[in-house]
Amino acid sequence: MALRNCGFVGALVFASIQVAGAQEPLCRDVVNVIDHPANTFVSKIKKNGVKCFVFPDCCTGAWTGNAACYVLNKTLVPPWQEIQHVTKCTPQVMTAVQEIAIERTNPTTAVVPPEIYDLFRAYLDVTRTSASPLPPDVKAGLQRIVGMPGIVWAQKDLDDAVYVSASDIRGQPLFPATYKLGGHDGITYGTLIVVKDSVLADKTCYRYETFAHELTHVFQNRQYGENRFLAKYILDATRYSYTQIPFEAEAFALQGYVANHYCSLIMGVPEPPQPPPPPPRRITRGGGAKD
Ligand SMILES: [Zn+2]
Repeated sequence: MALRNCGFVGALVFASIQVAGAQEPLCRDVVNVIDHPANTFVSKIKKNGVKCFVFPDCCTGAWTGNAACYVLNKTLVPPWQEIQHVTKCTPQVMTAVQEIAIERTNPTTAVVPPEIYDLFRAYLDVTRTSASPLPPDVKAGLQRIVGMPGIVWAQKDLDDAVYVSASDIRGQPLFPATYKLGGHDGITYGTLIVVKDSVLADKTCYRYETFAHELTHVFQNRQYGENRFLAKYILDATRYSYTQIPFEAEAFALQGYVANHYCSLIMGVPEPPQPPPPPPRRITRGGGAKD
């Protein structure tokens, strides 16, 4: 896989991990499953009983050029899978962070080696400590639907979640678009959400829906543990299309539910006006009321 050098060396932490990850190329055995579609092969079979004196060509090597000499034989080959065992070596320019970000989006292997996880985790931990809490309006809006039907994440997930923008130097190495992969609006690693700038600038419910989606991944990470989440996600991504990955299916379902049921509530659209309360009773004392 050709990767461009994205010039992240400005980030000290990233640079140090890049050095650590680039000591030696990492090689590992990879199983590639290639799906071959159904196919029909057509071959020419020499006709029985062609007479040389009627069709002289049929008795020479030129018979394939004369339609009178053959019948077409169609062979249907059903769909089949090819299993390739190959050794994949990580290029020296690819860092652990790049490797995970790419595998997370476009996995080529079902198993990521623990040393890659460890390097990635180190970058993630540092990035998380400097990331921002959720934008206040997003947190306040989504807080209103905690515990309501269809919402799996809890107040704890809203409190724990932090974010960086995809264009931020800390977010770039984690965001699929940096590697020209996917059309994601956000991606979540543990409690860290990397979110596209257009979502942060959005003023519609889509802004909240997107965070609601990513918070589902925050919840899933808490539920499974970050390493198990990532391992399962990558394994599932080799088996399912993107939206069918079970973690994504849950997140998209929740996102859709929010879009259909909770936008007004989240965005604080005022309730329809209530009839005015009855005026307070005048308190009368002695001979009459005083205003
Ligand atoms: Zn998702």
